Amino acid sequence: MLQYLVILLDDTSVSYCHYENTKTTRNLIGLDDLKAGIFFAMKQNLMIQFVYPDGELPEEYHAVIESIDHHRVMPASQAVDGAEVIVLDRWDQAPEAAAAPHVACVARADKSRLFRDVEKLAALLGKLNRINVVLTDADTFTDTDFDAYKQILSRLADALTGQYAQGRFPQLNILTDRVLLDRMNNCNAGVENITLAPNGKFYICPAFYHEDDLDAIGNPVEGVAIRNRQLYRIDYAPLCRRCDAYQCRRCVWLNRKTTLEVNTPSHEQCVMAHLERNKSREWLNETAAYFPGREIAEIRYLDPFDASTERLDF
Ligand code: SF4
Repeated sequence: MLQYLVILLDDTSVSYCHYENTKTTRNLIGLDDLKAGIFFAMKQNLMIQFVYPDGELPEEYHAVIESIDHHRVMPASQAVDGAEVIVLDRWDQAPEAAAAPHVACVARADKSRLFRDVEKLAALLGKLNRINVVLTDADTFTDTDFDAYKQILSRLADALTGQYAQGRFPQLNILTDRVLLDRMNNCNAGVENITLAPNGKFYICPAFYHEDDLDAIGNPVEGVAIRNRQLYRIDYAPLCRRCDAYQCRRCVWLNRKTTLEVNTPSHEQCVMAHLERNKSREWLNETAAYFPGREIAEIRYLDPFDASTERLDF
């Protein structure tokens, strides 16, 4: 059941996820389309997440936005008190608003930036309460990159342990989420959330809009029409529904890009999610005193597909 409506306020709205937004020309959503999206969300009882561009919005947009309860996803340059998600551009400094207790900061990076700047990220854990690391080129990871990613996870786990020892308890999606979750916490685009783009049409998520604006799934007046809608659900994903890498985003856009099936993740995504899961397990074992009763089982595979073909416990 739908629960959220993401509204891209502009073609240049900041990317907070795996996709790149290469659009540089401002193209604000029309006020009528914005109002129609809000009306649709009200009728369907959906929480709205407005995604902001870099730069000021006209005054009349603020009045419409403030007419409904919402969350804000903002680029660091625009971050204001009250934003729920702030997308960081620099990792050596974060805007003041990013340190508020309820704020999740998104650190998007390709592998070379992550591998190069891990110390900056580790230092940010000392200042922020939640960081979501989002890899933008997960589909290009090689075996060498997996080894490097393992080292990165170890370094970040050490940084987290250091923070815990000082009485600070920051969250880092790729390590602490699996410790705290009891079931899958995927993105669920197309199932729990859809996106209204600046052209007034619905898409599975912003990535689908930026990739092909002909890939619309309806509009606020005619409603939502997703072909083979069931395929976006986890119960139609034969491997994912049995997997316990609960922190995985299970990105349906990356799935389609890499395997041509929205319900089938690539080998790269599965291995990365399992490296995170297994490092979370090691970290939990080291910090068990902070997490009474929490356990993560030991497993012998990094890709559930291999486990299913080699008949390992899965
Ligand atoms: S499907 Fe979800 S995880 Fe993937 S790019 Fe879209 S919003 Fe992000």
